[in-house]
Amino acid sequence: MKVIALAGGVGGAKLAHGLSMVLPPDDLSIIVNTGDDFDFLGLYISPDLDTVCYTLADLANPTTGWGQVDESWITFNEISALKGPDWFRLGDKDLATHLIRTAQLIQGQKLSEITKKFCEIWGIKHTIFPMSDDPVRTMVHTKNGNILGFQEYFVHQECKPIVEHFEFRGIEAARPLPQVLDAINNCDIVIIAPSNPWVSIDPILEIPNYRDAISRKPVIAVSPLIGGKAIKGPAAKMYQELGIKPCSSAVANHYKDFLTGFIIDNLDHIELEKIERWRIIALVTDILMKKNQDRLRLAQEVLKFSETILNRSR
Ligand code: GDP
Repeated sequence: MKVIALAGGVGGAKLAHGLSMVLPPDDLSIIVNTGDDFDFLGLYISPDLDTVCYTLADLANPTTGWGQVDESWITFNEISALKGPDWFRLGDKDLATHLIRTAQLIQGQKLSEITKKFCEIWGIKHTIFPMSDDPVRTMVHTKNGNILGFQEYFVHQECKPIVEHFEFRGIEAARPLPQVLDAINNCDIVIIAPSNPWVSIDPILEIPNYRDAISRKPVIAVSPLIGGKAIKGPAAKMYQELGIKPCSSAVANHYKDFLTGFIIDNLDHIELEKIERWRIIALVTDILMKKNQDRLRLAQEVLKFSETILNRSR
């Protein structure tokens, strides 16, 4: 079964990791959000791409959910001592990634080419694509009239501002990657990882042509909300501030136009009926991934559910 996974950072990386433990390299491609990318101290930083790559390479820091394991902070501490901006923490190993990627981008290499080379070096066998080689910047429009870059909102202001809407700056001009379109066209199923629908998955879907290509395939999604709460990050807070009750069915509703199947947590079994009324096939299981074993188990369940869905449509 050929699978495409759409992913943001934390939740996306966990399920992508589980899928990579089950599927052979040729059967899994992961398309990662780059709307969170930004420039910091002159460096090009791609937080979701790095989280997915570090996770699949077994380099990720399990405690923070970002950055590398066994980091040192020598450069960061000096930056801080020099009164440089220190609201975005960069470990020494992580810095090497940003330095080399930035240098290669300046030389004219594409983000997708650089990602491919880094993946080879890190021993990642499955394919990881940035959603585009062109810049897209997620901007958060807040209730008090400010427009914040995503990392300014997420890290510097700790998600405190109340969101009004999101803008994916540059999205109309962002070209889809031909390799991604080919991978979507040749896949059996698209899996939307339990990532933030507003700021991790929507930017991918809004790259020209992706939504259409994805809509022609069976699509299943895993809820990033359990019991009305996000495991990490502002997804539930965003739903609330946008005037929508945060719950699994709200996520299903978000993707309703093209969703074939949806996976929710046991805690949310009460929402099953509502979701099925939209003609979405639902599966209720344990969708919390605390350990590597949970990632593997959930990935196996997602793939079994995918097979059931594919068999039904045959
Ligand atoms: P970000 O770009 O780093 O915020 O990463 P994502 O958008 O991929 O991940 C954030 C989302 O992942 C949040 O809405 C979390 O609720 C969700 N998430 C994190 N861990 C888990 C988990 O173990 N299970 C599920 N179902 N969702 C999770």
